[in-house]
Amino acid sequence: MSPYPHLLEPLDLGHTTLRNRVVMGSMHTGMEDRARHLPELAAYFAERAKGGVALSVTGGYAPNWHGWLLPFGSQMTSRRFADKHRIVTDAVHEHDGKIVMQLLHAGRYGYHPFKRAASSKPSPITPFGRPKAMTTREVDRTVDDFAASAVLARRAGYDGVEIMGSEGYLINQMLTARTNDRTDRWGGSAGNRMRFPVEVVERVREAVGADFIVMYRMSLLDLVDDAQSWDETVELARRVEAAGVSIINTGIGWHEARIPTIVTSVPRAAFSWVTGKLRPEVTVPVVASNRINTPEVAEEILASGQADLVSMARPLLSDPYFVQKAAEGRADEINTCIACNQACLDHTFKNQRASCMINPRAGHETTLVLSPTRAAKRVAVVGAGPAGLAAAAELAGRGHDVELFEALPEVGGQFRLAMQIPGKEEFSETVRYFSRRLELGGVALHLGTRVTADDLVGFDEVVVATGVVPRIPSIPGIDHSSVVDYQQVLRDRVPVGRTVAVVGAGGIGFDVAEFLLHEPHESVEEWMRRWGVTDPALERGGLATKAKAPAKRRVHLLQRKTTELGKGLGKTSGWVHRQTLKDADVEMLKGVTYDRIDDAGLHVTVAGDVPEQRVLAVDTIVLCTGQDSVRDLVEPLESRGVTVHVIGGADVAAELDAKRAIKQATELAATI
Ligand code: FAD
Ligand code: NAP
Ligand code: SF4
Repeated sequence: MSPYPHLLEPLDLGHTTLRNRVVMGSMHTGMEDRARHLPELAAYFAERAKGGVALSVTGGYAPNWHGWLLPFGSQMTSRRFADKHRIVTDAVHEHDGKIVMQLLHAGRYGYHPFKRAASSKPSPITPFGRPKAMTTREVDRTVDDFAASAVLARRAGYDGVEIMGSEGYLINQMLTARTNDRTDRWGGSAGNRMRFPVEVVERVREAVGADFIVMYRMSLLDLVDDAQSWDETVELARRVEAAGVSIINTGIGWHEARIPTIVTSVPRAAFSWVTGKLRPEVTVPVVASNRINTPEVAEEILASGQADLVSMARPLLSDPYFVQKAAEGRADEINTCIACNQACLDHTFKNQRASCMINPRAGHETTLVLSPTRAAKRVAVVGAGPAGLAAAAELAGRGHDVELFEALPEVGGQFRLAMQIPGKEEFSETVRYFSRRLELGGVALHLGTRVTADDLVGFDEVVVATGVVPRIPSIPGIDHSSVVDYQQVLRDRVPVGRTVAVVGAGGIGFDVAEFLLHEPHESVEEWMRRWGVTDPALERGGLATKAKAPAKRRVHLLQRKTTELGKGLGKTSGWVHRQTLKDADVEMLKGVTYDRIDDAGLHVTVAGDVPEQRVLAVDTIVLCTGQDSVRDLVEPLESRGVTVHVIGGADVAAELDAKRAIKQATELAATI
């Protein structure tokens, strides 16, 4: 029997059946907006349908131009564009999947000056000032526009629509007193404010008929002030059910909420309890969402009765064959999403195509193709960090004869350090995934083997992925016994005192500070207390007072630049790291000159109108001051006439991250 009986069980919706319980949640990929990208969008969804996803949801399409997310962004308003979508829906249906189009009116979250919203209240997270409040007639027309878009989605071959009623977009804005101070029939009381989503569902259902999926994504936890009460949420769920929805999906947190909802430090399935709270209140199937990334977690949610379906979005970017692998008892082969956001959400927010750090083929299915080789070669890969692992796995996958050499006793390179950081435990999944790929590909793995150029003569090609070492800055007294580098702290576990100066405030400086402050493996309950999240039946929006997590040390975090610390961190995750350190009372010092280190501590001058000289009387000074490439094999190999490819940190250390390392490795592997 399958270990995931609930996950793999079909779901009968009356007019149609979903083949299992996996919904691929909506993500804007950047391929939605223009007709010329639809063939690529088709290939992207086709691969997920082929991999077993039951129901995919597209990125959001606006029902009219006032509802655009971006200027000239995706909208479903013409028959011509609808007909072009046939390529997408046909591709999914060919693999027995189903697909619904998400209808999303951005309201005040639109990044353009033509935005319309419930009231003229500016969004705290988007430019272009105040939105224009819709007139009563405009609201009526917007309801009609949702229905018209749904009809076009049907014409395009979609199996249904998802009405986006969460994350703080227009429907949320109509629903709460926070953003709706209208006095007409669309505002004034909670009942009136609910009229908009209920009429949207009614009109959509009326327009599309009974045999079409109408999913409604409902904000079950707003995580902002002046939000809906739980009673109002339940009433809304019942009213949209009566109005004709087929499925209720879960939305967590408005985009303007100051509580993380999907980054890697949010524990797995942290919000499934709130879907479980709604489920007994309605009769239609409900979908749990957010930080569900393994078949075990998904199965547990379904088996415990919290939900009827699970929505995963990023986990199907990182592995389109998630469902198939789970069904075939190959869950250990799944490329588990580590919730880093680096190539998906961070790209979307920068208007770049969404992809995946650990699966660079995502969003590039038609251009990054790893087909079997016709001329197998003997390839040596040196270094088993993310770059070397990806290169070895993909080369072997293509049929090359690959040997992988790693100086340390274990694979993973710096990812082994990253996975020690509290809130980054998921990074171990990538090491597990690639280790399994090496086994499956028959890669000959030589651990504890530091190779020299002489060892590599005889291979057809050599891939140098020897990575980086910590940079040691030239500060007077740098040899003092209180000084250690991040690798000694994280890998060698050298003792660190009660007061610490972390020198360098890049990604690693922030991570090391978190490592020094908190314990790993935080539970959902601990995480909720730390961020002030509670049952929405107790507090509107589920917001409570934050309870500080106990800090193990007193930490100072320093950089030479005069900009705010952490400015260079990820767009969608950096604020979480900054807030975590602030909440732990870390002293953040910018504009620092490192004068010297001695028995008294770290002597610095801090820039300001009047520069201030200070002595940080710390027990330990941890260097997180960037990295230098390890390239000592390159020249000797080249001089022996060996064909060499240098990738990852060994290639360029500056602004190196695993996204670049894995992408470069995969692209190289596609060409050898
Ligand atoms: P490395 O990971 O450095 O691997 C190189 C490997 O080569 C090592 O295992 C080394 O032992 C081996 N080697 C070297 N010389 C030889 C030789 N002669 N013979 C055999 N083996 C050899 N990046 C992100 O994108 N996101 C993050 O959130 C993130 N967090 C991080 C957190 C921490 C604490 C750290 C330290 C790093 C983090 N990084 C993160 C950075 C990321 O880990 C690196 O960019 C990535 O590991 C670089 O990959 P690489 O394969 O080029 O090099
Ligand atoms: P980094 O971002 O380049 O940071 C290095 C830090 O050291 C900076 O604060 C820099 O700031 C300081 N520094 C550099 N040279 C110095 C010198 N000679 N003396 C004193 N200070 C010096 O790199 P990193 O923190 O080493 O991280 C490496 C890569 O890993 C990053 O590029 C990042 O992409 C990745 N990473 C990502 C995450 C994530 O969460 N996404 C987490 C960890 C790592 P000043 O010059 O202003 O002092
Ligand atoms: Fe998941 Fe990171 Fe890939 Fe996004 S980039 S899908 S968060 S692993």
